[in-house]
Amino acid sequence: MSESKSSVLEGLWSELLAKIAAMLPEQSFQTWIRPIRPERFDDNTLTLHVPSQFHYEWIDSHYSLQIRQLLGQITGQEIRVRFTVAPKNGACPTRRAPVSLPKARVPAVRAPTPEETQLNPRYVFDNFVEGDGNSFARAACLAIGEAPGKTPWNPLLIYGGSGLGKTHLLHAIGNFALTQKKVARVKYVTSEKYTQEFIHSVKNNRSTDFSNLYRSTDLLLVDDIHFFAAKNRTQSEFFHTFNSLHQAGKQIVLSSDRPVHELDDIDARLISRFQSGLITQISPPDFETRVAILERRADEEGASLSVEVAQFFATHIMSNIRELEGALITLLARAAFHHTEPSIELASEVLREKMGRTVTKPPVEHIQEVVAQHFGLSVDALRGKTRKREIALPRMMAMALATDLTNNSLKRIGQLFGGRDHSTVIHARDTIRELQEKDAFVRETYEALLKRSSRP
Ligand code: ADP
Ligand code: MG
Repeated sequence: MSESKSSVLEGLWSELLAKIAAMLPEQSFQTWIRPIRPERFDDNTLTLHVPSQFHYEWIDSHYSLQIRQLLGQITGQEIRVRFTVAPKNGACPTRRAPVSLPKARVPAVRAPTPEETQLNPRYVFDNFVEGDGNSFARAACLAIGEAPGKTPWNPLLIYGGSGLGKTHLLHAIGNFALTQKKVARVKYVTSEKYTQEFIHSVKNNRSTDFSNLYRSTDLLLVDDIHFFAAKNRTQSEFFHTFNSLHQAGKQIVLSSDRPVHELDDIDARLISRFQSGLITQISPPDFETRVAILERRADEEGASLSVEVAQFFATHIMSNIRELEGALITLLARAAFHHTEPSIELASEVLREKMGRTVTKPPVEHIQEVVAQHFGLSVDALRGKTRKREIALPRMMAMALATDLTNNSLKRIGQLFGGRDHSTVIHARDTIRELQEKDAFVRETYEALLKRSSRP
């Protein structure tokens, strides 16, 4: 490449980097954008080099549009973007650590037993419903399951609130890697159990056996690492196990109920190890994902579930999938016991008892207040006639919320919005549904308002 060409490339790239950096969260930037290398710029085509196929797919589906738009802004022309992917033998200079040659599938002498792996065969990728809050975590887990120890993501750390699928994903990686024969030895353990076993081994003078057990695995899955807090000797043991596995190119996957910087009473050396790979968050599922999870679970139980009941649970149980499933299972058991259908009535009885919640529907007026306050409008404006977009959109959201959260008829809702027709309410609801699909701002705002409105 001539000197002028290469400086054009560098200039373009550094300007692009600065613009992307201003747009993305630091973690995403470091994970996805930093490892890209600009290769060539000719024929209005920018060629970028990425470290792996998975990396390419992620960039392509999440950032390629933004990248093209920014390039358009910078050059004033339409720029095509091409990607080249690093060969798998690790020759690519962008890799952080040397990667060993991909081995042939590892034949297990015999398949390890569930007692040895501690894997729960029920938790697999196939029955993990993908949704907004978990799709990146799921993709990363799948990539790790396909090539344990051979991605730059070692360790992988998944964090997120209780009941959001962390344990499910850890087991899914293990089950996948074993059945696909990517590794021969897998071990799943919670940090609580690890701690107990370690203490036990020390007491019985068997700590070497303990160390060997955890250091002789190809894939180590450690759940709930926040439990290591203040257990200094266990932390030190785990630190050495971590290093020994990591140096041998073995894969480590961890989960935590909070982000790394909020882990208290954990040795700084361990924290820095935890931060050295890929960190990914799972957040609570959106409404559609909650409904899909319920439907899939009912299927697994061989039960039929009406859309109404699925939506009812999904509306009232928002931030914990374990609770969501618990409510469903109780409902199905109760329906079977009484030889009745799992009806809405039975469902609200279950919710009332099990969750200790009274399912009072918020009045439409309450929804109007929440929405008005959120957008800095008056309730009168929401009920009024103006069609300005900055009022029309919040008004449509409030109407859609009223149809989602209350049992009022469309006609009644229309009346409560300044005497509008029921067809206006239907239109509002459909418009919001459509925007939710297309527009992250609408989706997130709606979710937040849904939560706020359903609280008294
Ligand atoms: P965590 O470890 O984050 O507390 P779990 O992995 O134990 O959560 O998940 C709680 C329950 O919810 C499990 O039964 C799990 O199978 C189920 N679950 C969580 N996320 C999903 C999902 N995306 N699709 C299907 N089931 C899920
Ligand atoms: Mg868990």
